Amino acid sequence: MNVAVYPGSFDPITLGHLNIIRRAAAVFDKLIVCVMVNSGKRPLFDPGERVDLIERTVARYPNVEVESSEALVVDFMKARGAKVIIKGLRAVSDFDWEFQIALVNRKLDDSIETLFMPSSEKYTYLSSSVVKEMAKYGADLNTFVPKEIIDDVLKKIESEGWR
Ligand code: ADP
Repeated sequence: MNVAVYPGSFDPITLGHLNIIRRAAAVFDKLIVCVMVNSGKRPLFDPGERVDLIERTVARYPNVEVESSEALVVDFMKARGAKVIIKGLRAVSDFDWEFQIALVNRKLDDSIETLFMPSSEKYTYLSSSVVKEMAKYGADLNTFVPKEIIDDVLKKIESEGWR
């Protein structure tokens, strides 16, 4: 079985992420969306909440699974028998960092390949940070995040006192 992993912070999942998930799930037998727990950043949602938000939006894709991990991506992949890392690229500015990470991951495990998928042009401007910034100001989130999670994002922003 050809298994790919799509790692990221997903704080929260956006329509840009969902677009990559849909397209990657059409290419692989199984896609595991992995919420990476990065202690360096202070997230809005904790990892369990992020997994739950993603699960709700990918329910329609039977070959997509969602997990979180504190391990290195390559170690997580070894444990799941996955050989391909999926990364979305919005602009050239994403490339420098992602290229570096891809080379590091190959150094750690040369059996793993990173595949870059170009963002849909509709979503090149979109990031989780943009979503959080817009939510703070009460903007309409319909064009930014899956409709299943809009209320959760607004509630969280309020409960954290960001609004
Ligand atoms: P961000 O916080 O910048 O939204 P994440 O760490 O959650 O990013 O992103 C995980 C992966 O999704 C990365 O490969 C990132 O390049 C990609 N990605 C993020 N937003 C988009 C988008 N709008 N279109 C395509 N890929 C995206």
